[in-house]
Amino acid sequence: MLRYCRSELPAFLTCLRRAVEIESPTNSPADVSRLARFFAKELKRLHGKVKVLRHPTAGSSVWAEFWPEKRPRKSVLVLGHLDTVWDKGTLRRMPFRTRGGRAYGPGILDMKSGLACGLWAIRALRELGISPSTPVRFFFNSDEETASRAFRKQIFAEARRARAVLVLEPAAAGGALKTARKGVGEYRITVYGRAAHAGIEPGAGVNAIAELARLLLRIEQLARPLRGLTLNVGLIQGGTRSNVIPERATAVVDVRVPRKKDGEAIERKVRRLRPVHPEARLEITGGINRPPMDRARALRLFRKARALGRALGMELEEASTGGGSDGNFTAALGIPTLDGLGGVGEGAHALSEHVIISELPRRVALLAALIATL
Ligand SMILES: [Zn+2]
Repeated sequence: MLRYCRSELPAFLTCLRRAVEIESPTNSPADVSRLARFFAKELKRLHGKVKVLRHPTAGSSVWAEFWPEKRPRKSVLVLGHLDTVWDKGTLRRMPFRTRGGRAYGPGILDMKSGLACGLWAIRALRELGISPSTPVRFFFNSDEETASRAFRKQIFAEARRARAVLVLEPAAAGGALKTARKGVGEYRITVYGRAAHAGIEPGAGVNAIAELARLLLRIEQLARPLRGLTLNVGLIQGGTRSNVIPERATAVVDVRVPRKKDGEAIERKVRRLRPVHPEARLEITGGINRPPMDRARALRLFRKARALGRALGMELEEASTGGGSDGNFTAALGIPTLDGLGGVGEGAHALSEHVIISELPRRVALLAALIATL
């Protein structure tokens, strides 16, 4: 398996380059759909039954099925996302390139190398005449980077038909697999005050910015960093000009929760917030949109991957992360889920984003071995 995967590395890199050069920012559905069609074509060439799933506002997702005739019917689900956080045109200042054993480009680590690993794992199994004992299904989602709203139902439905979910997100540092992820939430907090002339009748106004500032200090105190419960006020907007008492101010807060009950506690506390000024009005929308991925769901799969990894000369560690993925959903449904099976590298969402080229054949071989033996 490993020998085959190593011999295929040049072809793999060509495919990876093509995927990186089809830019696919979440906010540009037509571009995400173009990448969907690219992967659909590649999956078809591997004799998969393939569907491109359209959506009225988001880009298309890709669904594929291999070995549908196998019994038992419960599949191995390979999960990935097509979208990236990089705006269209990033390629001009951050082109695909290889240097010093690394391959660079927007979305190459998160997660186009992972998608290519999925493709090549099937190719390896086909070429070596290895047939898994269950059907294998793929779901490449189009809007993971913005909370996976468009195809969430379909992902849930596929997960329920699966015995195990393998997520192609990048590996943690040193190639570690991800066995736990924090839950993710987002709250949009808007304060409505009353506008007035700041000089002529300052007492007639209710300052929404001042009110929001007081609230944010209280919100920051809800964090429990030692327990891993963190908050970030990441965005703030309000006011029109300095001589007008602002009528409206909004903040968006990102929340990360290690356990389900932390999410429930935060939800209760945020909903209980009240304005200090009796005439200010508060509107809170949002909530926890990805439940935590519980390590217990991953352990059996991780042990299996570690044993297979040893046979491939890898010493695989496990890691937990504050970042969410679609694995959060499948684990919360109770389906065994192992994450971080994609490329090994650094700089996801950063200009230095890259994968280590020599690790790619082993990642493909590991994925193929998992698919073949689950
Ligand atoms: Zn990702």
